[in-house]
Amino acid sequence: MIKQMKLSLEERAVEILLDDAGLLHDVDKEHFRGKEDVIVICCPDGRQFLRGILNPFVEMYDEAHKLCLLPLTEFGGTLILDNDSPLVVPGSTIADDFIRKIKYAVDEMGYKASCPINHQPCGGARRHKVHPLCVVDSLAYAKERIKKKEGVGITVANFFQITDIEQDRRRLSRVPYNDYVRWRGHHGDAKLYGEIQRIIRSMERHRLVNNELQNLPNIIGGVI
Ligand SMILES: [Zn+2]
Repeated sequence: MIKQMKLSLEERAVEILLDDAGLLHDVDKEHFRGKEDVIVICCPDGRQFLRGILNPFVEMYDEAHKLCLLPLTEFGGTLILDNDSPLVVPGSTIADDFIRKIKYAVDEMGYKASCPINHQPCGGARRHKVHPLCVVDSLAYAKERIKKKEGVGITVANFFQITDIEQDRRRLSRVPYNDYVRWRGHHGDAKLYGEIQRIIRSMERHRLVNNELQNLPNIIGGVI
């Protein structure tokens, strides 16, 4: 069986950081009312694709409008569209080919909306040591590349999917582009990465205390 991945402390810390900033808007079927048929741009990781991404989308879409949904997948999701992406080997045309698929869906098939969805834990991001905050940054870059650089006439609404197998929870959240870019620009790398480290240290202390509390009966029993 393919090994499931636990959420790392760094990934969990990024989720907490984004939640504290109010940047993860968990979606429900109301989100799709009055919306267009949509291209879903995401990583095809089989551990998350069906339950974490496709099922929630299809359920919400079916309840809302019975809209069409076109999955365009590539390992790492929008990470392949980043400048100097570590997921793209030199000389590869994978990013340009992917943009061509999006343009085909828009120009030839008539799609007017897209939802890039990155996720964590993502095996591709981890393998290439892409920091979880950069996985979220990549969504903003993707929107800029698709709309501004490539000039594709399509709406782009960014999403982040999180699976925490230890807590048995999955969430799919919209990441509002304008709010994210403003927050990112306002705080800067040093402050945000410092905050992520502070959250990690706090979680480690919490785990340590919990472990000690769990071992307490043994310790007391040993003393007695
Ligand atoms: Zn992935």
